[in-house]
Amino acid sequence: MKILVINCGSSSLKYQLMDMENEEVIAKGLAERIGIDGSVLKHQPKGFDKVTVEKPMPTHREALQTVVDALRDKNYGVIKDMGEISAVGHRVVHAGEKFAYSVVLNEDVMNALKECIDIAPLHNPPNIMGIEACKQIMPDVPMVGVFDTAFHQTMPKESYIYAIPYEYYEKYKIRRYGFHGTSHKYVAERAAAMLGKPIENLKIITCHLGNGASITAVKDGKSVDTSMGFTPLEGLAMGTRSGNIDPAIIKYIAEKENISVNKVDEILNKKSGVLGVSGVSNDFRDIEEAADNGNERAKLALDVYVHYVKKYIGAYAAVMNGVDVIVFTAGLGENSANMRSRICKDISFLGVELDEAKNNIRGKEADVSKDGSKVRILLIPTNEELMIARDTAKLVGNSRN
Ligand code: ADP
Repeated sequence: MKILVINCGSSSLKYQLMDMENEEVIAKGLAERIGIDGSVLKHQPKGFDKVTVEKPMPTHREALQTVVDALRDKNYGVIKDMGEISAVGHRVVHAGEKFAYSVVLNEDVMNALKECIDIAPLHNPPNIMGIEACKQIMPDVPMVGVFDTAFHQTMPKESYIYAIPYEYYEKYKIRRYGFHGTSHKYVAERAAAMLGKPIENLKIITCHLGNGASITAVKDGKSVDTSMGFTPLEGLAMGTRSGNIDPAIIKYIAEKENISVNKVDEILNKKSGVLGVSGVSNDFRDIEEAADNGNERAKLALDVYVHYVKKYIGAYAAVMNGVDVIVFTAGLGENSANMRSRICKDISFLGVELDEAKNNIRGKEADVSKDGSKVRILLIPTNEELMIARDTAKLVGNSRN
């Protein structure tokens, strides 16, 4: 069974075609600048050189058509015709409170996702455009939606209710939803598998530290709390997002700078985080380099970042009354030995002891804790596409049985 996995942004379309017999990626790529001058597809078919296709892609529909043409190209194609694609799995950011699991995308589900546009105005519209483009180009192929919010639907009410008038939850569904759920679920399950223990017996803190970053407390295999909230702005300091701040700051900046609340929101999303503190970059590689060269604000940005992550680890150990495993994943978590080391330093009271020699590794599954460490510290590269493909194969397989 071959599954196409699609992840649409406002001007991009990322995809992987997977053969589920051996869970191998047979082609992957990225269409960029959709709807902008200079649209381009970068396509990597297995067994061939990378291909670049430059042609106008005014909407996601033309982008997807370009992808499909590349997949069955006569020179470097990996399939002969579209009939070989059994199903498409779509990453969808927000499913509100409606779906705790992945589902087949029928009309009712599509309507439910459209209702969520109100609470996810940046993320859901491009996801929906991608699904609609797919329906036009592959009308007979079943499609599945896999939601970033789904894994966190197990949170107890005390974790997701904000301490604001309850009517706002009732009227507007303002609550913590959490994101990166597919990644947190994947690495938590891999952690249990790596340790050879049932996930039901583990208290796991999963740290997804990429450009966007979130931490989840996973108890008995379920998300019981997570750092992102109503939107992905809450929680850790991130590449460009502020994470937690005193909400009174918003009004104060708006008044002092004579700008709108919308503008402040944009600043908190796009100009804050380690970019805002360092003034150097949102990329940790640049900030670490600047810090090594003596840039004080770059050093401060890293200190602030480490402080936020540590605070959440401590908080989630308290939420779960203990912690057995800490997992690091995503760009920074998988690649920066230095930041993993700094985050794990001086929390030995929790039983967390990192082995510096084992930690000198990147991008590979590894246990980087000291032999005697009570808490296992694991590095696990995330694989959201594989999770989406697995859910899609399972649901389509079931619906055909
Ligand atoms: P996204 O949230 O966009 O999916 P990723 O998980 O791919 O992001 O993470 C990208 C970020 O990871 C980069 O912006 C960079 O800050 C960080 N990163 C990647 N490689 C390294 C590295 N070798 N050292 C430090 N940070 C890294």
